Amino acid sequence: MGSQYDLQVDKVVQEVKRRKSKRVILQLPDGLMQYAVQISNRISKDTGAEAIISLDSCYGACDLAVHAASRLNADLIVHYGHAPWVSKSSIPTIYVEAFASVDIGSVLPKTIAFLRGAKKIGLLSTVQHIHELIKVKGFLEKNGFEVMIGKAAGRVHYDGQVLGCDYSSARSISADVDKLVLIGGGKFHSIGLALETKKESIVIDPSSGSVFSTKELLHQYLRSRYARMVEARAADSFGIIIGIKFGQLNMSEALNAKEKLTGSGKGVTMFCVDNLDPERLNFMGDIDAFVVTACPRIAIDDAERFKKPVLTAEEVKIMLSSELLEGYLSSG
Ligand code: SF4
Repeated sequence: MGSQYDLQVDKVVQEVKRRKSKRVILQLPDGLMQYAVQISNRISKDTGAEAIISLDSCYGACDLAVHAASRLNADLIVHYGHAPWVSKSSIPTIYVEAFASVDIGSVLPKTIAFLRGAKKIGLLSTVQHIHELIKVKGFLEKNGFEVMIGKAAGRVHYDGQVLGCDYSSARSISADVDKLVLIGGGKFHSIGLALETKKESIVIDPSSGSVFSTKELLHQYLRSRYARMVEARAADSFGIIIGIKFGQLNMSEALNAKEKLTGSGKGVTMFCVDNLDPERLNFMGDIDAFVVTACPRIAIDDAERFKKPVLTAEEVKIMLSSELLEGYLSSG
């Protein structure tokens, strides 16, 4: 099966056989969906199990297809694209990270110019490139840097791994390093990393072969989030959205936000959702601003699609404090 990812189909087939599974829910993120039918056919043909591909979202291991599996009496979920989630599901699950097979060797020399002035480097990665940490560490050490890789903690499965909702591995080393290097594509993780650690982060994007600093991105991000918080501060009525996906339910955070908002004289209405469609919020009357306590990506990545301000729970704290809001633009 030709792919730029390590799909480990033989291993999946062996595991389905070993477990004597009869019905398997196959779950893949958008970027791997092109391989879904081939994987499903291999499972059915080689194991005799009935493979059913989930067409629902697959944003992270937090988005496990437990509901579909239980409705369809499946005895196994094969979840592609993410590392194992911290809490166990009621349905047995095999996680296949699908490590990217892009060679990053030729990109690495570009990082040196971005690390000028730094001696100690903290090294991190999204799960698709986690297997490259040792190679990048070796490269940086050869070039005279001292390199630290943070320990896995919280929701994170591998040492050095970052999730958009958990930067504990970065926090564990950020005080001891001068700069951070992140292996991974896209802006979301790099901005989150810089925001959490207050350190300049240098991003190696293996897919595009580019290397960049988060400095300017972070300033743009802070300005846009600040504008939304200022708008939300003037709001009278808030909707608090509770995510009900397997790993996104955070009732205490929702209740905490409710307490803070009502304590500041704001009206609060509670909502729950599995997959949030921004259009549904745009139709909602009588609410001036929303707070999402599910995945933090929703408020950030979909910001342009919302007609009203949508904040994360963390941003509620900042918005309600004049001092934190004033200092926000210079916090990056
Ligand atoms: S950032 Fe969002 S999608 Fe990713 S693991 Fe966390 S809750 Fe799930």
